[in-house]
Amino acid sequence: MSTTLDETPSTAKWWTYPFAVFQTNLQEIDAGLDVEAALDAIQAHGANAWLLNTGGIISNFPTELPFQTRNPHLEERPSGDLVGDAVEAAHRRGVRVIARFDLSKVAAPIAAAHPEWCFRTHDGEPQVYNDLWSMCPSAGYYQERSFDIIDEVLDRYPIDGVFFNWFNFNIIDYSRKLYGVCHCAACVRRYRQWSHGESLPVDTRSAEIRTWSRFTAEVLADLNTRITAHIHARAEDVLVVLGKQAHMRYAESNKMFGRDLWPHRTGEDVSELRHHEPPVPALVNSVSFVDMPYRMAGEEPSHFAQYLIQGIARGGMPSTYIMGAPGRIPYPSLEAAGEITRFFRRHEDDVYGRLAPAARIALVKAPPAQLGSAASEEYHGTYSMLQRAQRPFDVIPLDQIAQLEAAGRLARFDLIVLPDVGALESQAAALDAYVRAGGNVLTTGASGFTEDGTAEMRTSPAHARVGDIRCGQDLWSTYATLAPQDRAASHHFDAPIVPVLGKLHDCAWADSTLRQGVMLPPAPFGPPEKAYGHLPSEEPAYGSLPDPGGGSVTVLPWTIGQSYREIETTPPQEMFLRIVDAAAPPRLRFDAPENVEAIVGTAGDDLIIHLVNLTGASRRGFRPPVAVTGLRVELPETTRDLRADALVAGVPLDAGVGGVLELGTLRDFEVLRIRGAASLA
Ligand SMILES: [Zn+2]
Repeated sequence: MSTTLDETPSTAKWWTYPFAVFQTNLQEIDAGLDVEAALDAIQAHGANAWLLNTGGIISNFPTELPFQTRNPHLEERPSGDLVGDAVEAAHRRGVRVIARFDLSKVAAPIAAAHPEWCFRTHDGEPQVYNDLWSMCPSAGYYQERSFDIIDEVLDRYPIDGVFFNWFNFNIIDYSRKLYGVCHCAACVRRYRQWSHGESLPVDTRSAEIRTWSRFTAEVLADLNTRITAHIHARAEDVLVVLGKQAHMRYAESNKMFGRDLWPHRTGEDVSELRHHEPPVPALVNSVSFVDMPYRMAGEEPSHFAQYLIQGIARGGMPSTYIMGAPGRIPYPSLEAAGEITRFFRRHEDDVYGRLAPAARIALVKAPPAQLGSAASEEYHGTYSMLQRAQRPFDVIPLDQIAQLEAAGRLARFDLIVLPDVGALESQAAALDAYVRAGGNVLTTGASGFTEDGTAEMRTSPAHARVGDIRCGQDLWSTYATLAPQDRAASHHFDAPIVPVLGKLHDCAWADSTLRQGVMLPPAPFGPPEKAYGHLPSEEPAYGSLPDPGGGSVTVLPWTIGQSYREIETTPPQEMFLRIVDAAAPPRLRFDAPENVEAIVGTAGDDLIIHLVNLTGASRRGFRPPVAVTGLRVELPETTRDLRADALVAGVPLDAGVGGVLELGTLRDFEVLRIRGAASLA
């Protein structure tokens, strides 16, 4: 808390050094906020940056712009200026201020004066929510007036950063009402020009929506780039949190009722954000309430803790987000959040300031197949199989592979897993280069095949897909097995028998393919009297092709992750791990229950292992975890000088001659720092 703004080295931007954010997402009635009391709470929490509502929907300072709305409650302040008071008080204490803008909506009089700025449905209706009119990013408010809005704040206040909320094309509103694609005049004109004459799609479930998504991504990217450049031309030390073009990438960790828990969501998001090129920091804004319609219902402390733990473990900056002035609404997770935030700050020099991801396995995440849909079952299944076996891995986005390869950032991985990601397009050549340089690739399902079935990677053992992709019920009663099944004709079978669900296709294999196991195509499964007759086909369970450069490609032409996810038995996981371990032999061995996640990184020469207790995972969220005892981490080698610490417990660990670290009790999480052992990751 004694930090001053001058301590950050002048050569590096302040946001490249660890910091922790506290967001007071204010209501207009909070304009009289006691800034000193708020800063007391922010600093006691461990945060050193304050994310504060500044402009856009409501201006918390006396704006002079005709298209902004001055908060009428500012009259409660002697100064009439909340932002001015906050920046002055925060800077006096060494706390940075990140100004929050929300350009997505304006008050009705502004919309009436500028109907051309407004969102329009395909039949011309505006999107109005609580008397606020939605603005369209294609039109003049975003495209031009946003610069004036930012300039007014930069002219008046020495803010440290800007953050833009909901900087997007609004297809739904807060009540989850679907409005669809904006058809304002600016969108109609821009889309026609961009698509060489096409009309905007109406149905958000149509195939054209993907084209529209690309259009919107380009509109936003262009605007983001211009806004960021504009801010930097004026103030180069102002952090901009805005889309993929800015200095920091942003993830929001939140709950949505009706959505089942994917227990790894925050860790996955941050890992994905950290594997963009060029690398920039990631901010994990963690929501203290259970969903937007229930902003006063506090999140479960164990659940909120997972946001922060998973976020910092993957190299994200922690941020705690509450509604209103601190203390106005009770949020039970703040105590746990403060403990983790302060832990992060205590270890910013020895761990988090230098933390780099160091897993040797990469799991590739494809963009969701449809607007707003979740990642594939295959992705989730492969994620779970790796996590539950404590095979540490990082998540990399499909569309970054070529850039990561070009930057030399794929070389760290022994294995890249592509879980039914579909066509690779421009990424295929980068994967070939990675394989020829000694890397290993595992594809499952339809990864690496074009629509017409041609294999995209030249290093692949499969030349092409043969026949159609079989899916759903056509696969019922299909199995894969690594045993020869020599006795199948007499109806005797040998383990393993792996059920196949999801998708399957045949392949035309290269002659030198190493064919592993066989497939057992369907036989009758009912009634029981008739449920027999499986015979091995000519197709292997998977095929591998070693590359002369030392790498390999393994093609598993079915969805082993989905098979695991649907059934959750061990045989699919064992088959999967057999391939994984051959390509990336585990160096660290964890003697731990399945619901402990191990995340590896390095900080300088030190190996950093985050162990996350996921035992509290339940249907919709995390309940309090069960304390785990008897955890052991076996290191591949040891030296006399090897020193390790359990940083959460605050105790040194002795690896002994056998190189085994024995932990005490694992509660929410533990962080192991093993001195000089970075090469063991
Ligand atoms: Zn529009």
